[in-house]
Amino acid sequence: MATIGFIGLGNMGGPMATNLVNAGHTVQVFDLATEAVERLAKAGATGCQSAAEAASGVEMVITMLPAGKHVRSLYLGDDGLLANVARGTLLVDSSTIDADTARAVAAEAEQAGCPMIDAPVSGGVAGAEAGKLVFMVGGASGPVEQARPVLDVMGRAVFHAGPAGAGQVAKMCNNMLLAISMIGTSEAINLGVAEGLDPKALSDIMQQASGGNWVLNGYNPYPGVMDGTPASRGYTGGFGTALMLKDLGLAQDAALKDGKATPLGALARNIYALHDAGGNGHKDFSSVIEFLQHGGGSASQ
Ligand code: NAD
Repeated sequence: MATIGFIGLGNMGGPMATNLVNAGHTVQVFDLATEAVERLAKAGATGCQSAAEAASGVEMVITMLPAGKHVRSLYLGDDGLLANVARGTLLVDSSTIDADTARAVAAEAEQAGCPMIDAPVSGGVAGAEAGKLVFMVGGASGPVEQARPVLDVMGRAVFHAGPAGAGQVAKMCNNMLLAISMIGTSEAINLGVAEGLDPKALSDIMQQASGGNWVLNGYNPYPGVMDGTPASRGYTGGFGTALMLKDLGLAQDAALKDGKATPLGALARNIYALHDAGGNGHKDFSSVIEFLQHGGGSASQ
C-alpha cells in the first residue's frame, strides 16, 4: 500500500480519493474548500492545511483541479508543489487541461527531479464513484507503470497514449468527437420524431444500422428511450454542458495553434456555447437535444 497526497477534492477528486482510502492506501488530502477536506477526513483520509503538507512524505501526488491555470499555479507558483515535494516523488495530474500546460509543467517537474504524468479521465462523476474511470495517460513508460496499480483502483482502464501531454490530447480529441456525435444523434432523433417515428423504435434501428454509435448504445439523449441515462432523469448527473464546452474550447485552441481545420468541432463548440448561455451549463451535455428542438426557448414557443 502506498502513501499518496491528493489535492483537489471536488466532484471527481472527492470520490477518487475515497476509493484510494477504501483500498487501504494512506491518503493525505488538501482542497481550498475546507468542507471537502473534512468530508474526506471522515472517510478515513488525513486532512491537511496546505498542498505542501499533503505532498510531504508521500510516494505519489495526484491532483484533480478545474483548469490549466490552477495546475500551473499549484505546481509552479511561489511555494508551489515543485518547491516543496521531495525529489523522486511521482506526480500525476488528472485534471483536464491543455496539452501545452501539461508538457510545460512536466518539464519543470523533471528539472526538479520528479517524474510527472498527465492522466485525465473519462467516465464522469458516476465513473469516479464506481472506480470505473478510463485514464488516458501521457508520460514516460517508467512513471506510467509505477502509477498504474494506483490508477487501477480508481479506474477500469489505463491507456498509455504517448509522451507528456499525450493523455490530454487523447482526451480532447475524444470529447470533440463525442460532442459531434451527440449533436448528430440528437438531430437525427429530432427529425425522426418530427416525421412521426417513435424515438425508441428509431434509436433501436439506428443502433443496429450504419448510424450506430456510442451515444445510441448507452447514452441516448431522448427522455424515456433508455433507462438510467441523464435524459431519463431530467438531464441531472452525467457530464455537464459547461464541462463539455470547456473541453471543446481546448480542442479549438489546439486546432488554431496547429493550423488544423476542425469545422464540426468549431460548430459543436458554438452550439454548446449557446446552450450554456441559455442557463444549461449544469445540465448533462445530452440536453443539447433540447437546444436543437427549441433553439434555447421553451417547448411551447
Ligand atoms: P470541481 O470544481 O468539482 O473540483 C475542483 C476542486 O479543486 C474544487 O474542490 C476546488 O476547491 C479545488 N481546487 C482548485 N484549486 C485548488 C488549489 N490550488 N488547491 C487545492 N484545491 C484546489 O471539478 P471536477 O468536476 O471535480 O473536475 C475536476 C477536473 O476533472 C476538471 O479538469 C474537469 O474538466 C475534469 N473532469 C470532470 C468530469 C466531471 O464529470 N465532473 C469528468 C471528466 C473530467
